[in-house]
Amino acid sequence: MMDRVLLLNPGPVTLTERVRQAMLAPDLCHREPEFADLTRDILAGLEQVYPDCAQTHDAALLTGSGSAAVEAMLQTFAPADATTLVVANGIYGERMAAMLQAMHRPCRLLAAPWEAAPDLSAVATLLQQHDDIRTLAVVHHETTTGRLNRLDGLASLCRQHQVDLLVDAVSSFGAEALDFAAWQPAAVAGSANKCLHGVPGLSFVLGRRTLLQAPGQAAGSLYLDLRRYHAEQRNGFSPFTQAVQAAYALREALHEYHEAGGMRARHARYAALAAHIREHMQAMGLRLLIDEQDCSCCLSTFHLPPSWSYRDLHDLLRSEGYVIYAAQGRLQPSFFRIANMGDLRDADIDRLLEVFRRRVVSRAPQ
Ligand SMILES: *Cc1c(COP(=O)(O)O)cnc(C)c1O
Repeated sequence: MMDRVLLLNPGPVTLTERVRQAMLAPDLCHREPEFADLTRDILAGLEQVYPDCAQTHDAALLTGSGSAAVEAMLQTFAPADATTLVVANGIYGERMAAMLQAMHRPCRLLAAPWEAAPDLSAVATLLQQHDDIRTLAVVHHETTTGRLNRLDGLASLCRQHQVDLLVDAVSSFGAEALDFAAWQPAAVAGSANKCLHGVPGLSFVLGRRTLLQAPGQAAGSLYLDLRRYHAEQRNGFSPFTQAVQAAYALREALHEYHEAGGMRARHARYAALAAHIREHMQAMGLRLLIDEQDCSCCLSTFHLPPSWSYRDLHDLLRSEGYVIYAAQGRLQPSFFRIANMGDLRDADIDRLLEVFRRRVVSRAPQ
């Protein structure tokens, strides 16, 4: 029936034809020079997403979903002999604390309610009182709610206390501003298959070059040791087999991204789509979970319309060619999420809003 199913979940995203076709390139051994060229092209493309980044940071490319990049960042940079403060206001922040716990690294979790912004003054107090805290980990765009955490204040506290800042930017990298020059993050983790429009299977960390080159403590993992990836990938090769076809897709997605105007263009496109969705959904009486001004440009969490379960809403929209996304944890029974990442056209969103008007807000589920 529908020839195009549109993914409105926060990654994997609807691909452009150009990226899909790129995966049909010839089979390739990951030890051949062509693969080294492919890797170096991707690393350069990632380092160019943000101004100033390439001056201080190098990318390391991993095979694995976004969680692999986050875990590699923690394995490599969260100290074994000092505390990492995790500032969380959602599932992904809390997951970083769970990762640190799983790897037996000292960790303190400062968990805010999911609907709230991080508590800057609580962070300041903790950093003041506990000089064993040497590292701070935070999520940039908390996909649980769609909140974009403003990192300026946290980053300046980190600089003030000489604390290393680790950022999970998996669902914002490429579409929301990351100020490498001002924030001086130790590392930023991202993924191919969200705002960059690649396919799932590859993720990456941009680490401060001086930290990646320093001997440092031993990573808690053989496979997720970023220093090893960094050292070997300077020549284009990786310690382990990489997802070759996903690399073809990511290279093409990065070329497409930079040709279309890079971060500013993607942000503007997403922001326009999100504003359109939010305006019309709210006009239909659908309420956002958090204030619109706190939302990222790529995800909106709405209350379910009266008398609709998530399952009924999902199934109806699926029959119309759209995949929406459930809320997580205790938000699950009452909310749903709509992401606007990927190759979406204005007409796709207009038709989605029309479906809501015609089949959702005007009637109970059949
Ligand atoms: C998607 C996402 C991740 C990684 O999740 P995977 O299931 O491993 O792709 C990590 N952090 C955030 C904020 C995310 O949105």
